[in-house]
Amino acid sequence: MGTSSSERAASARQVGRVFLVGAGPGDPDLLTVKALRLLAQADLVLHDALVDPRILECAPRARRVDVGKRAGRGATAQRFINRLLVSSARHHACVVRLKGGDPAVFGRLDEELQALRAAAIPFEVVPGVTAASAAAASLGVSLTLRGVARGVSFATPRVGAGEPGPGQVSNQSDTLVLYMAGQVLGEVASRLLSDGRPGRTPLVVIENASLPNEHRWIGTLDTAVDWPGPAVRGPVLVLIGDALAAADQVLAAGLARNAA
Ligand code: SAH
Repeated sequence: MGTSSSERAASARQVGRVFLVGAGPGDPDLLTVKALRLLAQADLVLHDALVDPRILECAPRARRVDVGKRAGRGATAQRFINRLLVSSARHHACVVRLKGGDPAVFGRLDEELQALRAAAIPFEVVPGVTAASAAAASLGVSLTLRGVARGVSFATPRVGAGEPGPGQVSNQSDTLVLYMAGQVLGEVASRLLSDGRPGRTPLVVIENASLPNEHRWIGTLDTAVDWPGPAVRGPVLVLIGDALAAADQVLAAGLARNAA
């Protein structure tokens, strides 16, 4: 995004600072202490649609604006959000841009940072618990596992407008954690199978990780097609790999919460 001379002149007037804050996966207890402190002092909170209402209540003195974008549902353009961030910093001392999970994981953080840098607005990024970490914790599994999984990748089959498709995910890491993959799980699984992953490879789909309405489906690449896909409304994360084998044992032993 370019910077006009009027924007540069206006930036001299700016009074505020923008904090790009990770809200975590939903459970308010998974907010960081820093996120909580910033929410308490925020004048304005610009938040994603996925942010839990109980988290927004942590910002009692702030004006709260939902700038959420859900695929296919009245998307607020990213460019509008970028502009709003810049103009907000000129009117409010403490602006919190609250994003689900961690802002640096599929959060379009870079586009917002570019806009802030171009307008010379001071900012700070505050990390949050990403959905992958929350899912692993809830399932009682480790995403890396000595002798089994030396690497984990966070990936998505979703492609942005104008990017070459269809969405493929790299098969390089032992453990794959797929964001925004629920609608195309069957395709993803069959690609991984044709790439050489064994059909018995464990696969877990977890909806609303960390929340009271969490649900999970435990299967394998071979049984991915049985997942009820479009009928599931909440955000889902897909975890694939031999490290997930422990999820089955853990659930059978009743050691982890199983809200399914
Ligand atoms: N920045 C976020 C990810 C944003 S992309 C993070 O770090 O977690 C949105 C996708 O994240 C959803 O489609 C879903 O795949 C995943 N996601 C976010 N919260 C989730 C949750 N509580 N349970 C399951 N998946 C979640």
